[in-house]
Amino acid sequence: MYDYIIVGGGIIGASTAWQLKKKLPDKRILLVEKESEYALHQTGHNSGVIHAGVYYAPGSLKADFCVRGAVATKQFCTQHEIPFEECGKLIVATNSLEVTRLDALYQRCQQNGIDVERLDEVQLKLAEPNIRGLAAIRVQQTAIVDYKRVTQAMVAEFISLGGEARLGIEVIGISELDDEVQLTCVSDEQTLQINCQYLITCAGLMADRITKMLGIATDFQIIPYRGEYFRLASRHNGIVNHLIYPVPDPQLPFLGVHLTRMVDGSVTVGPNAVQGWKREGYGRFNFSLKDTLQMLRFAGFWKVTWANLSTGIKEWLNSLWKPGYLKLVNKYCPEIRLDDLESYPAGIRAQAVTKDGQLVHDFLFSESARSLNVCNAPSPAATSAIPIGEYICSEALQKFADD
Ligand SMILES: Cc1cc2nc3c(=O)[nH]c(=O)nc-3n(C[C@H](O)[C@H](O)[C@H](O)COP(=O)(O)OP(=O)(O)OC[C@H]3O[C@@H](n4cnc5c(N)ncnc54)[C@H](O)[C@@H]3O)c2cc1C
Repeated sequence: MYDYIIVGGGIIGASTAWQLKKKLPDKRILLVEKESEYALHQTGHNSGVIHAGVYYAPGSLKADFCVRGAVATKQFCTQHEIPFEECGKLIVATNSLEVTRLDALYQRCQQNGIDVERLDEVQLKLAEPNIRGLAAIRVQQTAIVDYKRVTQAMVAEFISLGGEARLGIEVIGISELDDEVQLTCVSDEQTLQINCQYLITCAGLMADRITKMLGIATDFQIIPYRGEYFRLASRHNGIVNHLIYPVPDPQLPFLGVHLTRMVDGSVTVGPNAVQGWKREGYGRFNFSLKDTLQMLRFAGFWKVTWANLSTGIKEWLNSLWKPGYLKLVNKYCPEIRLDDLESYPAGIRAQAVTKDGQLVHDFLFSESARSLNVCNAPSPAATSAIPIGEYICSEALQKFADD
């Protein structure tokens, strides 16, 4: 019998397992992951940005986690010799409405304690000769990293402290009893049962299915939104010095394709946000009947789709029609041509949507007597993974202390 089992070997599960073992060295703790590698889903399919925390409401959990997470991630990378680059980010305004929104973001950065510099058109041209805009803000702390490597290093730390980690084990059923939790799992087509005192789940795209297995009444469902990228032809590896972001629409802050320098030296364009029809299907035309039917039966899906219909259609058309996608980038980087856009793997966001059709923008947790469950960990959760793990550990220690 384990004291704790943590389900999910993405960055949130890995961070939680490592920090819990550090706090409870004498407890038997197991991390289980259904895939044959760690970080194969959201954590391994993202933009690789260590965000500084520009967009989040001052005083919110998201702002606090992000600002502290960025510092902690860089420290962790330095300690573990994981390369990262503090290349900085420019948010570029291309019209007068965006300049107004840019100024609001500038204020927000100051409220969140982020070091930020405002650039006029001439200064922008000097900083980024290939970028066109009226004004920009420069956030120098923004950095890039490979989150798969960060996750692997967290799992290695967990194991070196005496934790147990097992790949290729999928949890397919959970029974919560008065004095233990029983997990039914499959591994290599064999069914096995693993028991623990307490359960922590960090299952990303499967978070709602795990809470359902626990019989917890919730009013959300995970809706998969694809984030599609292109990689620029290698002759453009030096096209920008910073990461380049458009000014977001405050109503839909996660939209807006950006130019991201990656740690391997390449530059990607993306991501967009289009409806996914398979939670863990990365190919453009991947489809799962089970995932789709579950979505279609959920009232929140119809409400959120209806409320964002015109944006959704635009994103979908630009996904199918490359020149439309190109136009989004050409707005601030006219250099790029159609044949510069090479294929690159997509990512899939695990977005919690409530029954009344609201996109959950913040972290969401659910619990039962013997479990704590991460139900929504949207971007910048990779940046924030260390404080999120710390938070989950302190919640778990408080909740389960008197048992
Ligand atoms: C396109 C895109 C771009 C992004 N860009 C950034 C960025 O630049 N910076 C940033 O900070 N954040 C970014 N994010 C957000 C960030 O990647 C995620 O918030 C973060 O990776 C979430 O981590 P996780 O561990 O919760 O989920 P995941 O990485 O999805 O991990 C969940 C794990 O649980 C496992 N699992 C699920 N069910 C079971 C089961 N039944 N049994 C066993 N294992 C199970 C899965 O196999 C998976 O490995 C981006 C996300 C996307 C999709």
